Amino acid sequence: MQKPADNQASFQMQHALIQAQRHLSEDLNPQELPGRILEQLAFVVPYERGALMLQDGPILRITAQRGFPIDERIDNLVMPARPGDIYEEMSKTVSPELIDDVTTDARWMQVDWLPLNRSWLGVPLFAKNRVVGMVSLTRVEAGAFSQADVLMATAFAMQAAVALENATLYQEITLFNQRLEQTVLERTEALRRALDTLERMDRNKSDFINVAAHELRTPLTVMKGYIGMMKMDAAVKASPSLAQTLTGIEKGTDRLHDVVNNMLDLARIDNQVLDFKPEHVTVVSLVRRVQLDYSHYLADRKLTLQVDGLDSLPPVYGDPALLLKVFQSVVINAIKYTPDGGIIKIYGRPIQDAQAGSCVEVCIQDNGIGIDEVQLELIFEKLYTTNQVALHSSGKATFKGGGPGLGLTIARGIIQAHRGRIWAESPGHDETIFPGSTFHILLPS
Ligand code: ADP
Repeated sequence: MQKPADNQASFQMQHALIQAQRHLSEDLNPQELPGRILEQLAFVVPYERGALMLQDGPILRITAQRGFPIDERIDNLVMPARPGDIYEEMSKTVSPELIDDVTTDARWMQVDWLPLNRSWLGVPLFAKNRVVGMVSLTRVEAGAFSQADVLMATAFAMQAAVALENATLYQEITLFNQRLEQTVLERTEALRRALDTLERMDRNKSDFINVAAHELRTPLTVMKGYIGMMKMDAAVKASPSLAQTLTGIEKGTDRLHDVVNNMLDLARIDNQVLDFKPEHVTVVSLVRRVQLDYSHYLADRKLTLQVDGLDSLPPVYGDPALLLKVFQSVVINAIKYTPDGGIIKIYGRPIQDAQAGSCVEVCIQDNGIGIDEVQLELIFEKLYTTNQVALHSSGKATFKGGGPGLGLTIARGIIQAHRGRIWAESPGHDETIFPGSTFHILLPS
């Protein structure tokens, strides 16, 4: 039966153990923790000299020490972990080793420059299912460690090993986080630089379009004036071949004029100075006008334009001239990218849109070459064209004739100025099965 004094001592020891363990769990710095372990262990098991050693391959390195003489050799103090020695024994049994008097133990190797302490207690540090090191305690006197000391040191070492493992994990995670943060910072910086470059390139594009349009406009106006004068000339009137040549020049000049006008429109959209005169306008009137203007292209290319369900749509509030340009762009594209004999359908419906409220949605559907999914948005970028520039044709409605890549950019700019939306849908690009494309235009009514 235990005596009350024994009970008291045991209670105090357990209390000391719990206190020490609490301190350990607070310290997550793996560099400081070994020293802290030895410090806290001294409250639980008294000792004169203590070392925490961790296994590093075939040797044990001192990670922290207490009570050693001040001597620089201590930094190089290592203990080999060899078969047959005490540590190897401890690793196998995972249990503490007590030597009451090291002078009588053949396994003991006394370091010559260390004062001789006769009692030795070694407790294994067990983590990740193996012994990773040990705590080595010595006392001057022989037989100084009691069985209670062994028990307490063992219990303490178990907690210390867990604390060491946690601290290492915590440090690994912290390091990983720091590296991750650094990588995120670097990638963000790279993205920011790429964005700057893209913005600069976009500005360059806009500047080029702006300058080129203004530079071309004046000589073009002069050319058109002279062409008008030449057409009146008697010599031209009398010569069918001259008149025909002049008509060719006039057509080319008109085409160039269209391109320059588009460039100017784009410059106005970019600079947000679009001349905007809104009124109530019906979609059907705009579509009929386009149908009429492009009837010769439709006939040349043997394309059918079907208009359906637009008469009943409510009018939209917008600039008729600007909206006409939108429908012209989308319809001329449908003509250009649909093979001869194809069908273009234009239909619409009133809808309630979450962002824009009461709207009309107009769809322009063709059964042409279609558009790749990755390009469905890109085609609205300025100067973007899926065609090879070298293959561009001068004919406005030639199949796959291509163009400067401004039409849809302008169309989107105009629609956005009307607080609407324009987007394209297509099952994909295929020039054998012709999956077709549908352009949706949403305008507040
Ligand atoms: P472009 O002057 O080249 O016609 P757009 O801005 O009008 O410029 O169109 C951009 C690109 O979008 C075109 O080059 C073409 O590749 C693609 N595209 C536009 N409409 C269609 C369509 N109906 N079918 C297939 N591709 C189209």
